[in-house]
Amino acid sequence: MAGLWFRIVFILLAIGLGSGLVQLLAGGTAGLWAFVMGLAAWVGFQVWHLEKMVRWLNDFRLSNAPTGLGTWDLLYAAVYRLARSYERQQSQLQEMLKSFRSVTDAMPDGVVSLDDHHQITYASLRAEQHLGLKAQADLGRNILNLLRHPEFVRYLESGSWTSPVVLRGVPQPDRILQLQLIPYGQSERLLLTRDITQIERLETTRRDFVANVSHELKTPLTVLSGYVETLRDLPLNASQRGQALSTMGEQAERMQRLIDDLLTLGRLETEQTPPSDTPVDMPAMLARLLREAQALSQGCHSIRLLDTSGPRAVLGEDRELYSAFSNLVNNAVRYTPKDGSVSIQWQSQADGSALFRVQDSGPGIDKHHISRLTERFYRIDKGRSRETGGTGLGLAIVKHVASRHGGALEIQSAPGQGSVFGLRFPASRIARQTP
Ligand code: ADP
Repeated sequence: MAGLWFRIVFILLAIGLGSGLVQLLAGGTAGLWAFVMGLAAWVGFQVWHLEKMVRWLNDFRLSNAPTGLGTWDLLYAAVYRLARSYERQQSQLQEMLKSFRSVTDAMPDGVVSLDDHHQITYASLRAEQHLGLKAQADLGRNILNLLRHPEFVRYLESGSWTSPVVLRGVPQPDRILQLQLIPYGQSERLLLTRDITQIERLETTRRDFVANVSHELKTPLTVLSGYVETLRDLPLNASQRGQALSTMGEQAERMQRLIDDLLTLGRLETEQTPPSDTPVDMPAMLARLLREAQALSQGCHSIRLLDTSGPRAVLGEDRELYSAFSNLVNNAVRYTPKDGSVSIQWQSQADGSALFRVQDSGPGIDKHHISRLTERFYRIDKGRSRETGGTGLGLAIVKHVASRHGGALEIQSAPGQGSVFGLRFPASRIARQTP
């Protein structure tokens, strides 16, 4: 509709100007007036379009695009096309930026980009978590004002970023971060952040484990080699030789026990979960545990099967379960002084689970030790443990067996009040029928 109106105005203007020009050439004054009026109208028309264009550009919206006549219409259309392609590019860029953000946010490592003045131009979600940055608020701020760790300041200012720097206690005291700067572009830098707390913890555990195993093997090995030298170099009588050989046997046994427990632990860590369709006969297991506990105690304790009303079978691996149960029973006998008592119970629980319990009247355990007892080589009384043939790995084995059977190890103890070690099995590991 507007296009038609413009066309009419345009034709009228052209007629006015044309007829004015013809009359002017014919020498009429009326022609002069018509020409001047026509020209004024023509200029006014151009100015009006120009203003329309300026108004549109000042409050630019594609939906507001004006329409015009001739060249103006072409001009409006050209500006419209340019603006549309610019908008399309803008939205494509926005999309790319969005997907770039979601990629960097999904990465386990954090990414921060810095300009040549160390100011943050971008930080991924993970980097914000690692460095304790605040989303938009910290953009444009100097990283050195936010991360003042002396190691990092030194690293950033050194300009030598071929290897990463490790910061301990950032942003929380128990965290360990690894940061690496990578130069890019003209003089920008990418700061990669990685939380290595877990890796460092595992590495420390591994180092401690190797050190502990070496230490545990070294003592019996030193004793053994001492006796080998003695037997080789000194003329011993039969009784001395007997004594030396029996001590050597004890030390060899000690090493054997340690190696057996290490192999068991290794197996428990790597082997597949125990079968959930193989019933392990519990009455036979309880009878065997009682016999062996009595043999270990050699009459020094009162050992009883108190309650054996639990399910007849647990679904799992016989060898593993025996290893866990016997570790608990042997510990109770080994740590309970002479004339103390040890009782074994196997009970069904109201929620369908079943509980194996070993209670002793031994020294009991202080609260702060309890959560650490299942750590490898953690011992409260080192002397008593070694004296009685302990390897320091028993409860670590029990914990593994429990979790492999979907169960848990429960410890209740207090100094002077004896201990109760319980192994709880979920209903899913209890056989419905007798084996
Ligand atoms: P160990 O071979 O030294 O007995 P364990 O892993 O079986 O290793 O036990 C870890 C530590 O827990 C023991 O060294 C001992 O100090 C403590 N402990 C285990 N069972 C008992 C118990 N029934 N009474 C008191 N202390 C215990």
